[in-house]
Amino acid sequence: MARIPLMAGNWKMNLDHLEAIKLVNELNLDLEDHRHDFSAVEVAVIPPFTDIRSVQTTIDGDDMKIKYGAQDVSTHDNGAYTGEVSTAMLTKLGCSYVVVGHSERREYHQETDAVVNEKARKVLTAGMTPIICCGENLEVRKAGKHVEHVLAQIEADFDGIPTPDAAKCVVAYEPIWAIGTGETATPENAEEVCGAIREKIAALYGPEVAEGMRILYGGSVKSSNVAELMAEPNVDGGLVGGASLKAEEFGKICRLG
Ligand code: PGA
Repeated sequence: MARIPLMAGNWKMNLDHLEAIKLVNELNLDLEDHRHDFSAVEVAVIPPFTDIRSVQTTIDGDDMKIKYGAQDVSTHDNGAYTGEVSTAMLTKLGCSYVVVGHSERREYHQETDAVVNEKARKVLTAGMTPIICCGENLEVRKAGKHVEHVLAQIEADFDGIPTPDAAKCVVAYEPIWAIGTGETATPENAEEVCGAIREKIAALYGPEVAEGMRILYGGSVKSSNVAELMAEPNVDGGLVGGASLKAEEFGKICRLG
C-alpha cells in the first residue's frame, strides 16, 4: 500500500495568533508558487492552542489544503480541569491531528506511556489522528538500547488500541538527542528504528496495518537533510520543529529539499 508522506510542522510554544496567520499565508503562497501536490506530500501545521482558531479561519477562508492539529490534549472530556483542552474542543476547530507523547511533554510534564496511550485513544475516539511520539535519550542511545527502548514505548502506547484504530495512527520517531540540537540522526539511524517500529506494528496488528502506517522521523529535520532521510524506505515524513517556523524553509522541506 502506498503511503502518502506527511510533513508536520510542530511550532511548539512559538508564534502568537497574528504571526500564525502570517506564517500560514506565506507557507500557502510558497506551496502554491511551487504547485505543491498535496496528494503526493501532505502538509500540516501544529500550532499552539491559542493560534488554532486563527489558523482554522485562515485555512478555511481561502480553501487551503494545509491541514492542522494540536500539540497535546487532555485525557478528560470536560469539567473542572483548569488549563486543559479537550478533544471535543479540537474537533470543533477542525483539527485533523493531535501530537501525543512528545518527548517535551514526557520530560517536563511527566507523561508516562499510560498517559500517552490514554490520550491516543481519546484522539481516535474523537475522530482525529494521533501522532504518537517516541524516542530515546542520549544515555539510552549510547548504551545501544535505543531499539529496545522505542519498541517498549510503542507497545505501551498502543496497548489495547484495536486494529481499525491502530491503522489510523501516525508514529513519529524522535531521538531526544537530535531534537533542537542541530544534530540530526543519520538516515541509517532513522531507518534502523523506523524499520523496527514497522516490524513491531506488524507483530501487533499484522502486515497490512504495518505497511499502511506512516512513520515519521523528527529531530533537526531541515531542507538540507530531508531528501536523504526520505530516501529511506521506512521514513514516511517528518515532524519538524525549528525549521517549520519559516515558510520558505518548511515549504522546501515539503518538496523534500
Ligand atoms: P526540531 O524539533 O526539528 O526543532 O529538532 C522536532 C520536534 O521536537 O518535533
